[in-house]
Amino acid sequence: MIPARSSSAPAIGLFGGTFDPVHFGHLRLATELSEAFRLERTIFLPAGLPYHRGRTAHASSEERLTMLKLATARDARFDVDDRELKREGRTFTYDTLAEIRAERGPDATLVFLVGSDAFAHIDTWHRWTELFDLAHFAVAIRGDDAQWATKGPGAFPREAWPRITLNLREMLSAPAGKVMTFAMTPLAISSTTLRALAGEGSSIRYLTPEPVVEYIRSRQLYTAKDAPRDALPGAAG
Ligand code: ATP
Repeated sequence: MIPARSSSAPAIGLFGGTFDPVHFGHLRLATELSEAFRLERTIFLPAGLPYHRGRTAHASSEERLTMLKLATARDARFDVDDRELKREGRTFTYDTLAEIRAERGPDATLVFLVGSDAFAHIDTWHRWTELFDLAHFAVAIRGDDAQWATKGPGAFPREAWPRITLNLREMLSAPAGKVMTFAMTPLAISSTTLRALAGEGSSIRYLTPEPVVEYIRSRQLYTAKDAPRDALPGAAG
């Protein structure tokens, strides 16, 4: 049971993803959720071995990290934390949240940021019901999420429904345990699209910050001769 508190400390946002590569959809999600949930800082957490994905990454961990740093450098509210990239073996969000909870203490308000498409499958994540003991979930409704368009919160696992709240005060007065949705500016951009455009030699300008565009171009990432660098086995994560 999570104790309620009378005064709320500044909340910290945690944003996990593959970021292969980072794009403006990610940056708008982080910006809009940071403002809506009054987050003091938002920490981007690039995934090491994204076990819930059955595919290979097309950029190395180091390249994904560099692109994230380039994309977030100008925003003082954003940080990048590379702990998942340094971890040996499987990467589980549960382990990352447990570590951050231990570092920040039981009273810190932690808010995990996630897109609605990802939250719809949260029941495939390792120890998923225990994630709510560690953090709140701020769920951004993606403009390109067809499942949400037809089902709304019915797209989310049933066990998560009782945790959904409309009350921001209630949410931020506890350190963890609630789920709140937010309709963000629809941006139907995905890393898949950027990889495909770069792969066919088309421009990716205005889909991601210019330093990232330059980095991808200079390294010729995602082009046919750019072989996958990390072999990522698929499973739930
Ligand atoms: P891919 O196309 O490779 O599957 P992606 O663009 O979905 O990648 P991820 O790194 O997998 O990017 O996403 C990290 C998080 O950002 C997820 O929670 C995802 O839902 C969210 N997200 C990604 N793109 C958008 C977008 N355009 N609008 C809102 N949320 C997004």
